[in-house]
Amino acid sequence: MSYYDVVIIGGGPAGLTAGLYAARARLKSLLIEKALPGGLVTTTEWVENYPGFEEGIMGVELAQKMEKQATRFGLEIIQESVIDISLHDKVKRITLEGGRYYEAKSIILATGAHPRPLKIEGENEFRGRGVSYCATCDGAFYRGKHVAVAGGGDSAVQEAIFLTKFAETVWVIHRRDQLRAEKILQERVFSNPKIKFVWNSVVEKITGKEGVEALHVRNVKTGEKSVIQAEGLFIYIGYNPNTEFLKGLVKLNENNYIITNDNMCTSVPGIYAAGDVRNKPLKQIATAVGDGATAAMAAEKYIEENF
Ligand SMILES: Cc1cc2nc3c(=O)[nH]c(=O)nc-3n(C[C@H](O)[C@H](O)[C@H](O)COP(=O)(O)OP(=O)(O)OC[C@H]3O[C@@H](n4cnc5c(N)ncnc54)[C@H](O)[C@@H]3O)c2cc1C
Repeated sequence: MSYYDVVIIGGGPAGLTAGLYAARARLKSLLIEKALPGGLVTTTEWVENYPGFEEGIMGVELAQKMEKQATRFGLEIIQESVIDISLHDKVKRITLEGGRYYEAKSIILATGAHPRPLKIEGENEFRGRGVSYCATCDGAFYRGKHVAVAGGGDSAVQEAIFLTKFAETVWVIHRRDQLRAEKILQERVFSNPKIKFVWNSVVEKITGKEGVEALHVRNVKTGEKSVIQAEGLFIYIGYNPNTEFLKGLVKLNENNYIITNDNMCTSVPGIYAAGDVRNKPLKQIATAVGDGATAAMAAEKYIEENF
């Protein structure tokens, strides 16, 4: 067991920025990430709206730069999954999947969110065989094929445009009659001849043999049913926060996002939350890094005053 000033859980933009600020404040800092550092940023090909990169930057490259910058100042990173946090007076114990644990004076929760499933027939059966939640990871398998994207927000539209690099046709199936995505993304998607829209509609069932062959769609206004022949379905209908292991520890809102104040304080003194895992209106890289910096500075102040 080791004892840290700050343990950061989650290595996306929020966690890596918290790590950068904590390490530069000369706090003994550990970041625990269950996968590779970078978080959701690594699942998008191109990031155009993060300041400082006037031509845009590849998601993976941005993630690597953030990791290198944070470790340069002494942040330690380990690859493990956190399954539990318990409180022992002011000391916090962080237990890993393998049973090992660390103790810390403060914790920053930066576990982000994961894509929400459609929960329809065929979704689990064809996961990895035509059903995907990551166009960057799987798009190249669909060269010359017909695919569909479910959703109408920024991620759905951005990834539909990306998929046209490979696919012959990209259907965007959206339950409303207009997109929620940024206007600049809408302009691009509407002018792309490979993208076709299925408005006011939801996918109800996915069928096929070895892989996905058909999407069974229902118009939510008219009730009319139709079938789209497609070999891939990319699902971008929103996110669920990664807070299952926190239930009963910090206060969550009705959708299980962590409630914080402006200083990223949760309901437990010395535990902070940053990034997409907390209840806030705009979930983007630019806001995640701001949260991470604020949380680290708040943790530093808490340690000074309490230990
Ligand atoms: C397809 C797509 C495209 C996007 N494009 C853009 C864009 O162009 N511009 C933009 O600003 N934003 C974009 N976003 C949103 C952006 O990626 C997120 O807002 C940002 O990554 C949030 O950062 P975060 O650190 O809060 O969480 P995340 O990036 O989700 O990182 C959380 C990390 O915590 C880890 N974790 C979770 N639970 C545990 C646990 N129990 N133990 C250990 N580790 C754990 C996860 O593995 C993950 O790496 C996009 C998102 C997607 C999905």
